[in-house]
Formats: sequence, structure tokens, C-alpha cells
Amino acid sequence: MLTDDDVPEGFVRFWVPCRTLPSDRAWEVINPADAKQCRWVDGGQRCTAQSVARLDRTWRTSDQRDAKPRWWHYCEDHLYGRRIQDGEIWMQIVAPADSPLAAGGVT
Ligand SMILES: [Zn+2]
Repeated sequence: MLTDDDVPEGFVRFWVPCRTLPSDRAWEVINPADAKQCRWVDGGQRCTAQSVARLDRTWRTSDQRDAKPRWWHYCEDHLYGRRIQDGEIWMQIVAPADSPLAAGGVT
């Protein structure tokens, strides 16, 4: 997670839904019935928690638009700094205080 030390003068730190970030739309919250083992691995040990979200890791090329989806599942502790709020995945970002993103974000 970011801290105030990561924020330069004139910038702000806030949370936004991942669906609003063009670079971060591959994450989605899953139904508990679809949970799988988290795929996080630390020191050769795989996390044993059940997933709460999944990341679309499907490899697509221009001539392979319908590639079979490949989902990677992660538990709440291993969302790479993201969090779940109101049924959505949120990402913490830093942007200029006067940016349109900041206007729609949650501090
Ligand atoms: Zn995990």
C-alpha cells in the first residue's frame, strides 16, 4: 500500500474502482461458490486461503480474440495492494490533485 511518503507535492493518494482504470480492468470479485485456492507463492509455499477475486491472465493475440479465458485466483491478502469494497476491486493510486481521476476517487 502507498503511504503519504510516496506522494509528491501537488499530488494526492486515493482509491478508485479498478474498472475505471484502463490498465487494471482484468480483476473481478468472484462469487464465494467459485472460490479456489489462492495462487500466491512465497518462498516456495503456496497460500492455502480461498480466493475472493480473480485476474484474467488470458493471452490474446490479434488473430486469437476468443482465446480460452485463464483466471488466476487470489485471496484477500494477496490482491497486490488492491482491496474489495462495495463488491468491486479498488486500487490505490497517486495523481495530480486537480486530475479528473482524483475528483472521482475516495481518500
Ligand atoms: Zn493468498
